[in-house]
Amino acid sequence: MTAVPTLRERLLEDPFQGYTYAYPHKTAYRHFDKPHPLRELWAGEDKQSLFLYLHLPFCEMRCGFCNLFTTVNPQEGRVGRYLDAVERQAEAVGEALGAHRHARAAIGGGTPTFLTTAEMARVFSILRRHAGLEKGIPLSCELSPATAETEKLAQLREEGVTRASIGVQSFIESETRTLGRPQKPAVLHAALDRLAKAGFPVMNIDLIYGMDGQTVASWLCSLAAALEYGPQELFLYPLYVRPLTGLGRKGRDPSDIRLQLFRAGRDFLLKRGYRQISLRLFRHESCPNEGDGGASYCCQEDGMVGLGAGARSYTSKVHYCTEYAVGRVGIQAILDDFVARPADHHSFAWYGYELTAAEQKRRYILKSLLRADGLDEADYAAWCGQTWSEDFPELGDLLDSGLVVRGHGKLRLTLAGMERADTIGPWLYSAEVEARMAEYELA
Ligand code: SF4
Repeated sequence: MTAVPTLRERLLEDPFQGYTYAYPHKTAYRHFDKPHPLRELWAGEDKQSLFLYLHLPFCEMRCGFCNLFTTVNPQEGRVGRYLDAVERQAEAVGEALGAHRHARAAIGGGTPTFLTTAEMARVFSILRRHAGLEKGIPLSCELSPATAETEKLAQLREEGVTRASIGVQSFIESETRTLGRPQKPAVLHAALDRLAKAGFPVMNIDLIYGMDGQTVASWLCSLAAALEYGPQELFLYPLYVRPLTGLGRKGRDPSDIRLQLFRAGRDFLLKRGYRQISLRLFRHESCPNEGDGGASYCCQEDGMVGLGAGARSYTSKVHYCTEYAVGRVGIQAILDDFVARPADHHSFAWYGYELTAAEQKRRYILKSLLRADGLDEADYAAWCGQTWSEDFPELGDLLDSGLVVRGHGKLRLTLAGMERADTIGPWLYSAEVEARMAEYELA
């Protein structure tokens, strides 16, 4: 059996050890022995402030760094058949949930704006008629520069999208080429210009650091170019090269100056009125609060309803979704299966992770500690009846290492702790989740 590395050992390694986007990670999911009826899974849950997520797995090209569940240039009729399946699923899920309310919603993928305006009109109609999406709640949508056309932006505004998030990655053409995402600066600037003029309450720009040939100077150039458009949020993603991605197949490695690039980017944004919310997310001081316009959503406690192949759903005890793949063949097989499913198949959860009480607590700690807000000690104790120090004495190591401070009833990452969030996250995974992730065979 391999020994689990201690925090001290992990701190000697590269800081970028794993992105804790969700816990447990999808690669820890498995087929359930018996499918769970959704009606039973959701029966005991608080359904008054849910997160609704729709996954649209279509893009105009496959970026070399991307391990998301998506396909490129679907054949004629595929998007329509996919939306037929989403409609069947939304009806089945709505019936199983009974009375419920969404506090927030997001449309992601893939590139939702790869769809035509007619297809997007159908998307919104499905979400409103069958998934209970109300106008006025915070609603986010992802875009790419090539598909951010004026007509589509107007449609998104009209349909109540409050946050538009665009994947830029870099303003330097040679850098996006090394990422396997050729992108003409003229197309990019025209798209950002249209997006800024469309007047979404929140505009987010995604950038990546750590690609071949990138320097601190070129990274700061990209950041400065992004700020020209006045984004309320920026996500700065460290480059990870993952198996079965374009970069992974070519055997590329991320640059070894990622920490230096991160620090330069962070300092640049902090000096320009942005606050750091997590390792990746920076939000401008003037940005509206996340809860504005709807009931507030608590990511530690509230549920998530996912629609579409690749979308996850979370109840407090069970996380579930369709199967996961990164390679083209694996993704296509999952999509074919999703589209062929009869309506009653969507009334069950077939694949996912059943969280024990200990895993639910671990998830709560991870979701709290890796964000700037930190872990509220009283909230944690009120939520589960124990203190964090009884449940996770190992967090004391973070205090001793100066990665976390304790004060005003909270445990918070220090500046040094925040830049180590991708070390601390994986260190906190349970042995069982680690083992399942390690034995997972990616398709
Ligand atoms: S990074 Fe975005 S645009 Fe590129 S392939 Fe992945 S989902 Fe599509």
